[in-house]
This record gives sequence, structure tokens and C-alpha cells, in this order.
Amino acid sequence: MHEWALAEAVIKAASEIAEKEKLAEVTELDIKIGELQQVERPILQFALKQLKPANFKNTKFKITKAKTQLKCRNCGNTWLFQKQKLDPTTREAIHFIPEVAHTYIKCPRCGSPDFEITEGRGIWLETVKGTR
Ligand SMILES: [Zn+2]
Repeated sequence: MHEWALAEAVIKAASEIAEKEKLAEVTELDIKIGELQQVERPILQFALKQLKPANFKNTKFKITKAKTQLKCRNCGNTWLFQKQKLDPTTREAIHFIPEVAHTYIKCPRCGSPDFEITEGRGIWLETVKGTR
């Protein structure tokens, strides 16, 4: 389950920030997930709760989806990825093999499948709140 690996990475990153900011306790983590990063939020939430260290015992984990912006390498067009425009089979395929995204997603202007993710890649920490 990659949710566990992600939860571990989130806790590790948040712990490093807490240490740097000298936070005795972390009260809230705002976690953003890019739309192309397929994550089962309940599993991630559960994994975070299981893995959290002592100074995270009252932490509220806020997990929200973030917009993903794509940029065409062929014509330079940028657009927002919208998953609802894909059919369910395609969504499943992307879920299991993120690399196939390039087969299904094409530039709406020129039709090229050669794009890069310019915003909303993967999973990241938007804010770390805590008490000193
Ligand atoms: Zn294009």
C-alpha cells in the first residue's frame, strides 16, 4: 500500500519542520494531494494516525485535493487536469499505472501527449501548525 509510504514521508517531513521551527507539539497538518497522485484518503488518514509520533498526538490531518496544471511540451499550452472528463476505465488505469496518463491525456489544443506537470505534482505539506 503506497498510502503507508506516503504517510511515512509526510510524518518525516512534518517532524523535520517541527524540529526546525522548535514546535513542542504539532496541532495541524495541511496535506495537499495533486489530482494525478492517486491516494485513498481514508487509508492515508488511518496510516497517519498509526504512524504519528508523540508530539503529533493531537494533530489534525487535513487532506485536500489540489489542482494539477499541465503544460504541453509541443505548443506550450497550459491547462488544468480534470479527472471527471476521463471514463472510469481510464481512471482505474491511471490509478494503477501513473505512467499511462501520457496515453490518455492529450493537449486540448494540439493533441500532443507530450506534457509536463507544472503544478500540483504528487503530495506535499501546505502548512504545519503547532505550539512552542
Ligand atoms: Zn499542445
